[in-house]
Amino acid sequence: MAARILDGKQVADEIREEIKREVMEWVAEGNPPPCLTAILVGDDPASEVYVRNKHRACQQAGILGRVERLPRDTSQYQLLDQICKLNEDSSVHGILVQLPLPMVADPRARIDTRLILDAIDPAKDVDAFSPVNVGLISQDRPRFLPCTPHGIVRLLARYQIQTAGRHAVVLGRSDIVGKPMAMMLASKDGACGPAYANATVTLAHSRSADLPDIVREAHILVAAVGKPEMVRGSWVAPEAVVIDVGINRVGERLVGDVAFDEVSQVASAITPVPGGVGPLTIAMLLKNTLEAAKQSHARVKAS
Ligand code: NDP
Repeated sequence: MAARILDGKQVADEIREEIKREVMEWVAEGNPPPCLTAILVGDDPASEVYVRNKHRACQQAGILGRVERLPRDTSQYQLLDQICKLNEDSSVHGILVQLPLPMVADPRARIDTRLILDAIDPAKDVDAFSPVNVGLISQDRPRFLPCTPHGIVRLLARYQIQTAGRHAVVLGRSDIVGKPMAMMLASKDGACGPAYANATVTLAHSRSADLPDIVREAHILVAAVGKPEMVRGSWVAPEAVVIDVGINRVGERLVGDVAFDEVSQVASAITPVPGGVGPLTIAMLLKNTLEAAKQSHARVKAS
């Protein structure tokens, strides 16, 4: 195997230790512990696991993790009402709604995910999904950074893989991963400094023509398409750095969007699945929750 393995789990553990220390200092100064509330609607097993993992990570970092469980038949109104209550609760610093929301058969009873995410107070939007927070990121003055792309930039920085002046290809244009990833890589200042931003970015998607040719131009490739092992070894330029965001279940196996066995023979560095990007996403959620608590404290002091 040629490629260096970028160990997201190890980097995430280091970051989580740093956050834990920061939280301890924050509380030792007499401040209330940061509090993250997750809303889980329905009983989707994968969502249950994600929420449990986030809750456990909060506890380990000294952050209060609360979970509001709502039944599958919760109405849009009831969910909005719950969010309003959390928006007004000053002891809650971060709010997240676990996606996807249940897909009920009757379209009239379906919850509009966009409407729900928009209802979260941007100051508590630790996923950085709200239009206000996305706008701030696009103007290079973020309040919070979206967890998965932020984790990826931190990973690159820990391994000193600079992006400035290099060609980054992002596969996938979702609001959660692809678009913010492209914005962050193209930004001037960067979450970890200009060396880990300032890339020339191509954002590709399902309507992009000649995808393998586009990918071959990448110094840095971020694959976030949700298609098991779509990126083949023959697509990747020698020495490229490959970040695999995909999490796909194929039978008993968990695989990424990149054919690991092939691509790791060509690339200079690659993230594994599991143990790559996933653990970083949770670490960055903790970071945003601590940041939200500090910002809330600063607002109260200033008022
Ligand atoms: P979405 O389904 O929201 O978006 C997928 C994107 O990929 C779309 O922009 C789509 O294009 C594009 N796409 C789909 N098929 C192709 C194709 N054949 N060729 C080129 N582009 C294609 O997915 P997410 O961004 O939410 O997630 C992507 C993957 O990352 C999933 O496997 C998900 O589980 C994983 N994930 C992992 C996280 C982690 O922490 N590791 C966090 C979040 C997601 P178009 O817009 O044209 O439809």
